[in-house]
Amino acid sequence: MVRIICPNCSHAFSPASAGPAACPKCNYVMAGAVPVATASPVFAPAGTAGAPRFSGTMAPPAPAPPAPVGAYGGPKTSGMAVTSMVLGIVGIVPFFMIVIPSLLAVIFGVVGTVQTRTGLVKGRGMAISGIVMGAVVLIGWLVVVFVFADEF
Ligand SMILES: [Zn+2]
Repeated sequence: MVRIICPNCSHAFSPASAGPAACPKCNYVMAGAVPVATASPVFAPAGTAGAPRFSGTMAPPAPAPPAPVGAYGGPKTSGMAVTSMVLGIVGIVPFFMIVIPSLLAVIFGVVGTVQTRTGLVKGRGMAISGIVMGAVVLIGWLVVVFVFADEF
């Protein structure tokens, strides 16, 4: 087999037949190899080396994973997300002005956002709410601690 380098795209290939050597990659027809046949430039028949190649693999589409839909319909809600939001709320209530709920709200919220990242589990908004509320309280506590640390 003779190897030809396409002058148009530098694609190396073997000519399919004795006809005009056409590049299978860019369909560039070699002028030198064409034996004065101006009429109907014959392209290599399909199925030979001249057949166009698909750049992408023609693998069949991956089978969709069975959606883990709850029996009651709809995706279930991430418990971590719910817990995070509740703790975030608890952390905001002045009476419960202790750091632990807010800290847990941030932690559970992070876990909740990870669990809800795929969209298969609901509660992403609640998890983010828990993170935000928990973080606000924690930052507030840090500010208070640093501002009043000198006073004590
Ligand atoms: Zn080419």
